[in-house]
Amino acid sequence: MEIRFEGASKRFGRAVAVDRLSLEVEDGELMVLLGPSGCGKSTSLRLVAGLEELSEGEIYIGERCVNSVPVQDRDVAMVFQNYALYPHMTVAENIGYPLRVRKRSKDDIAGEVQQVAAKLGLDGLLDRRPRQLSGGQQQRVALARAIIRQPVAFLLDEPLSNLDANLRLQMRAELKGLQRELGTTMLYVTHDHAEAMTLAHRIAVLRDGTLQQVGTPMDLYRRPTNRFVAGFLGTPPMNFLSGSVQEGAFRFDGGTVLLNAKQVAATTGAKKIVLGFRPQAVSLAAVGRAGGFDGNVYVTEEMGSEAFVVLSCGEHWITVEAGAGLRPTPGDRLSLIVPPEAVHLFDAATGRTLISGEG
Ligand code: ATP
Repeated sequence: MEIRFEGASKRFGRAVAVDRLSLEVEDGELMVLLGPSGCGKSTSLRLVAGLEELSEGEIYIGERCVNSVPVQDRDVAMVFQNYALYPHMTVAENIGYPLRVRKRSKDDIAGEVQQVAAKLGLDGLLDRRPRQLSGGQQQRVALARAIIRQPVAFLLDEPLSNLDANLRLQMRAELKGLQRELGTTMLYVTHDHAEAMTLAHRIAVLRDGTLQQVGTPMDLYRRPTNRFVAGFLGTPPMNFLSGSVQEGAFRFDGGTVLLNAKQVAATTGAKKIVLGFRPQAVSLAAVGRAGGFDGNVYVTEEMGSEAFVVLSCGEHWITVEAGAGLRPTPGDRLSLIVPPEAVHLFDAATGRTLISGEG
């Protein structure tokens, strides 16, 4: 079912955790709420679950405004970071618990537990207690317990953050597959942009309780609405240079970047400009190449299939992906070529995007 926030705010005393949030999650969609710690992601989720009360606005699940609907009647299933399993119950009892509460028959419960457990690869573990399981298995039990309820939506709060890096990747892929298979609306909270990019149909970026942008991962990556979103998505993060636009070029303390006419026009009226480009969108060349500016290599970070070079240019530190076979050493002097299509321009005063790429 759809989930809709309409001007939803939540204040704790004078602190505003969620500020007039309007957002619609479509039926069957996997929407990720993304943002740094304290931006209001968990509070937004808890508002949908009914674990927090709205200060203002409305929340709808399907056609129904749930503002005054108690937690147990909202028909959503929440999965937390810490799994929240019952330690004294077996895996089967944990998974079947929501059906026991609904007073379903023993046989019914056993049948459904079997089915859900098989879907999540837990069939061999049904008699164990949570403490006899690995973190990944515990996480699967928590998911199974949510799935068995057949809720109208899943609410997941950093469900993978207690897992080690490899398991996280595996569970991420499993979750995505599972959501596709079930077709159930999922609202998923994380501060991990890579998780958001790989999982989401759409991402909603929050900052200080305020919605910054909603869109598909590639929309946000290619056309971020402001410097905050631009810097939050992508690894390594986007590079930013502070300067100004004069005579058809961006000028900063380390050199100049040539702009096209559309880009120059977009900066009219903005005095101080921030130019951004992604490490993967530019190239390195021997010094003196036209259209580039020079930098000193500080360090090269080898990643195996690729490498990133950190250079100093004027007062700025810049990270660039090294081309195939190019592995510069500290102290080398190289030229950076920033093509117009790699350039994002921001108004330094407001952080607002003036133009991204070629428009
Ligand atoms: P994290 O990723 O660290 O969990 P978050 O984005 O989920 O962060 P929230 O937990 O929603 O952020 O918190 C948003 C803001 O509201 C924070 O400033 C937090 O301190 C505040 N806050 C959350 N819950 C309460 C509460 N019960 N009482 C007072 N302030 C709260």
